[in-house]
Amino acid sequence: MKKLGGGLEIGPTQAARVEELASRLETFRASYYAGRPTVSDDAYDALEEELRALAPAHPALARVGTAMLSEAWEKAQHEIPMGSLNKVTNAEQLGDWLKRCDELLAKQDEPSIRTGLFVTEKLDGISIELIYRDGVFSDAITRGDGEIGERITSNVARMRGVPARIGDRRRISVRGEIIVRFSDMRDHFPDYANARNAAAGTSRRLDGQGTEHLTVVCYDIAEELGNRSEVDKFDWIRKLGFATPHSYTGEADDVLDIHRRYSEGLRQSLDYEIDGLVVRANSVEVQARLGDVNRRPRAAVAFKFASPSKVSTVLEIRWDTGPSGRVTPVAIVEPVELAGATVRRASLHNVAHVRFLGIAVGDEVLVSRRNDVIPYVEEVVTKNDKAIEVPTTCTVCDAPIEMAGEYLMCRNLRCPALVEGRIHNWIDAIGALEWGDKLVAALVSTGKLSEPADLYALTVDDIASLDRHGEKSASNALEQIQGRLPLRLPTFLAALGIEGFSTQTARLIVASGLGDLEAVCAADVEQLAAIPGLGDIKARQIVDGLQVREAELQRLRAAGIVPVSEKQAGPLAGKSFCITGSHERPRKILTQFIEDAGGQVSSGVKKDLDYLLIADVESTSSKAEKARRYGTALISEDQLLLLLVEDT
Ligand SMILES: [Zn+2]
Repeated sequence: MKKLGGGLEIGPTQAARVEELASRLETFRASYYAGRPTVSDDAYDALEEELRALAPAHPALARVGTAMLSEAWEKAQHEIPMGSLNKVTNAEQLGDWLKRCDELLAKQDEPSIRTGLFVTEKLDGISIELIYRDGVFSDAITRGDGEIGERITSNVARMRGVPARIGDRRRISVRGEIIVRFSDMRDHFPDYANARNAAAGTSRRLDGQGTEHLTVVCYDIAEELGNRSEVDKFDWIRKLGFATPHSYTGEADDVLDIHRRYSEGLRQSLDYEIDGLVVRANSVEVQARLGDVNRRPRAAVAFKFASPSKVSTVLEIRWDTGPSGRVTPVAIVEPVELAGATVRRASLHNVAHVRFLGIAVGDEVLVSRRNDVIPYVEEVVTKNDKAIEVPTTCTVCDAPIEMAGEYLMCRNLRCPALVEGRIHNWIDAIGALEWGDKLVAALVSTGKLSEPADLYALTVDDIASLDRHGEKSASNALEQIQGRLPLRLPTFLAALGIEGFSTQTARLIVASGLGDLEAVCAADVEQLAAIPGLGDIKARQIVDGLQVREAELQRLRAAGIVPVSEKQAGPLAGKSFCITGSHERPRKILTQFIEDAGGQVSSGVKKDLDYLLIADVESTSSKAEKARRYGTALISEDQLLLLLVEDT
């Protein structure tokens, strides 16, 4: 048996894989230094990790890759090189690092590092150095290889979190990370596969387009400015006006606890991507005592989260039709373990992304499971010769599919995927939580349900006749549908599930003065596009969407499902009032109050009158007596005002 070093014994299959990995890393590195990288840093890292796991001491691991530089931006030297961090991925490795630090400190008669640790989130973005001279922002240089980066000052000046001036006139270089917040990702970069790609692609754009949606978060200052600890340094950075990632202090056990909390959900709750934690000695003096090795400080490590990405092979590419008719390409891959789960399918986002990746069956791909629960394909590592196949028909209903922007769409309203999708959308929008996927699918497949109007014609028998549905649960389900009536206009509109028509959009439309369904349906593209927050594309989608669903809207109306206008939906909706005698406020004003809150004002006291507004509620006038006989409530002006502010 031949020993490769590191004490790891491997069989012949693994030995072959080791050699393959090593030679590929060499090839990638060569093309990378030639300025034509063939894989991303992430893919390179994933292959390097695999090799490290099989043969930790392999010579191919000795050299470390550097970031790619483009020809277009001016190169710039960092006055103080930007270092990098050693990585640990589990408690054991973290323990080893602490032990090494303690051994070095013990030789200097210094106490353990364990009791004074500083932990921050490790942002997954593009490292950047911001330089201020005389208190004015003057330069921004990407990390590059740590010595030389690119001067992308004009772009960085437009990013959020970069103050034009700071209250300190010394030459200061603040270090941080360019990131894309997930909220900005959704609004401004929907066509990027992930936030890091969006940050990398956008920050280096020569036209600077989109850079205003990037954010810089800072965590270090290169100069020695008299800060005695990381805590002081972070306070200082914040005082200058920069944003910092979350940070913690604690002992070794606390670090494990924080790491666990992030892995178990805290990470998912953030509006930005992190790929681990940075753990370092809080004391600047301890950091200095421990020193650097190859520009990597001994007093700090990156404590990464479990395997963010791995290499796998594409077995099949499926084109799934979703509830909106949008066709999403999905890669079925050779199963891989990622962040504690077995991944078999990964989203390919849209056709544009499929073309961008150039992905096809048999390709070797990098699969990741970052912040999203849904794994996706980041890139093609090795291309097979097969061509990309984009379908022309829906895989569910066989109808032709067409491009709409970056997406393929099935427009067949009878497509089962769309029918179920529309029903689900309606149920979700009105808040009928008891309705699950299976119930909807069963009712659609038996033909009982093909559009929202059908929901209101269902009987207890229709549902109870299905598997595993008793009469009680059937009537509960129906009660949930009926109990939500009448629907408010924004809810009704959003429930239709028209592309581009969210509840938020519906609210904007209603708030703009289109108070009832007829008015919304009659509005044209220009009228809708003029509403702040909508724009041409959404306006067009809404007008087209309503037109396509016209017959269905009529059937809803015929079934008695008519949305209440916003006025009808106020706190006094459906209530009738009669005003008698004199009041503090003029009758005209009181009438307006009632009508604005959705109530109706009538002239006389009739049997179904809800309220009689009267100065003296004890009055024995004939009107008052009549109202009492009908069971009408007698209220004063003050009581009316209370009704108006009551929340519905
Ligand atoms: Zn279809």
